[in-house]
This record gives sequence, structure tokens and C-alpha cells, in this order.
Amino acid sequence: MTYTYDDQNIFAKILRGEIPNNTVMETDHCLAFTDIAPQAPVHVLVIPKGAYVNHDHFATTASDAEVIDFTRTIGKICAELDVAPGNDGQGYRLIANTGTHGVQDVPHLHVHILAGRGLGRMLTKA
Ligand code: AMP
Repeated sequence: MTYTYDDQNIFAKILRGEIPNNTVMETDHCLAFTDIAPQAPVHVLVIPKGAYVNHDHFATTASDAEVIDFTRTIGKICAELDVAPGNDGQGYRLIANTGTHGVQDVPHLHVHILAGRGLGRMLTKA
């Protein structure tokens, strides 16, 4: 697997502080911020600080520390936003659009956390 990371993508610019963001949480290895065009009452993006194009790139080449931090940060945000069912929340959806068929617009790994309303079935049938 080979990926070439485009360091001019918008999330790379956010990480460098060139573009503002509404930070929800920051850790050693990742940043979470609200989506600029929310699709639900809760719409948070979680990105690793490292230069990873998508989830398979991240999962196969990131360090254990990065993977653990990313996974735990998503969990902490869901708990803090009161959407985790284990804390009596109403639930949420995680989406990581990838590549052409996944309709990924920004080529830096990001997981969407969507919540705050019923989100319907996962996909509409083609
Ligand atoms: P995707 O289609 O999965 O690549 O999603 C990219 C997401 O990034 C979209 O939901 C956009 O609304 C969001 N987005 C683009 N620019 C910004 C920005 N400057 N700050 C926050 N979210 C952004």
C-alpha cells in the first residue's frame, strides 16, 4: 500500500494553525473540532495529528500510541457529549469516508461523530 499525503489539504492547514477551528478536544496525537457544515445537531470531526490519508493508512502504519489515543479520544468525546448509550445517551454514528466510492472530500483521515437526532438507516438502497 502506498499513499502520498497532500500537506495542503484543509485539515493539515487546521493542524498547522493556518485556519481556525472550533476545538472540542485535543490530545497528544489528535484534534477534534466541530464540522463547519453540520449534518446533525452533534457533528464533530476527529483527526490524527499525523499525516495519514485515511483509516487503512492510519491503521496499518500509525504507532500503537497514535491508534490508542485516536480510539480513546472518540470514546471520550461520545461520553462527554452525552450521546453514549452506556451513559443513557441516545447513540451516535461514526463515519470515515474513504476514497472515491466512500466520497472522501478531505484527504486526511477524519472520523465524523454524528448524533443528536435519529439518523435513519445507514445507507439508502441504490
Ligand atoms: P468528507 O466528505 O468525509 O471528506 O468530509 C469532510 C468534512 O469536512 C465535511 O463534512 C465538511 O463540512 C468538513 N469541513 C471542511 N472544511 C472544514 C473546516 N474548515 N472546518 C470544519 N470542518 C470542515
